[in-house]
Amino acid sequence: MATIFTKIIQGEIPAHKVAENDNFLAFLDINPNAKGHTLCIPKVATDKLFDLDEAAYQDLMAFSRTVAIGLKEAVPCKRVGMAVIGLEVPHVHVHLIPLNDMSEMTFNHKVNMTQEELAFTARHIASYL
Ligand code: AMP
Repeated sequence: MATIFTKIIQGEIPAHKVAENDNFLAFLDINPNAKGHTLCIPKVATDKLFDLDEAAYQDLMAFSRTVAIGLKEAVPCKRVGMAVIGLEVPHVHVHLIPLNDMSEMTFNHKVNMTQEELAFTARHIASYL
């Protein structure tokens, strides 16, 4: 099913991209829990994480791990948290969230960032990948 993430993959709407290869894309969440909150998605649209085949699942986890390691270097934090939800956008995505406090994993905790701040943050994270 095509979602807003399909439009991002196809370049129909903008996103603050952090990393990309033939099969996966990482970009900043537009309504971040914390500065640097990044989404990692497969380019082939699948709704639920555990409906991915074994190889696609493992490859998404490997891609997310690479992004998380760069994210931890780029954005000072205690650790990078990971969550998979998908209730809002039914296209598999791994949330990577730089954490300093448990509240940042609640999805009620949001930070305001301008488009310029998001663009700068995306370039900064990308420089660590
Ligand atoms: P969920 O499906 O519940 O895991 O949440 C979807 C996430 O996608 C939320 O954190 C949204 O802020 C984020 N999101 C929705 N639309 C966009 C977009 N156009 N660009 C970046 N992030 C988005």
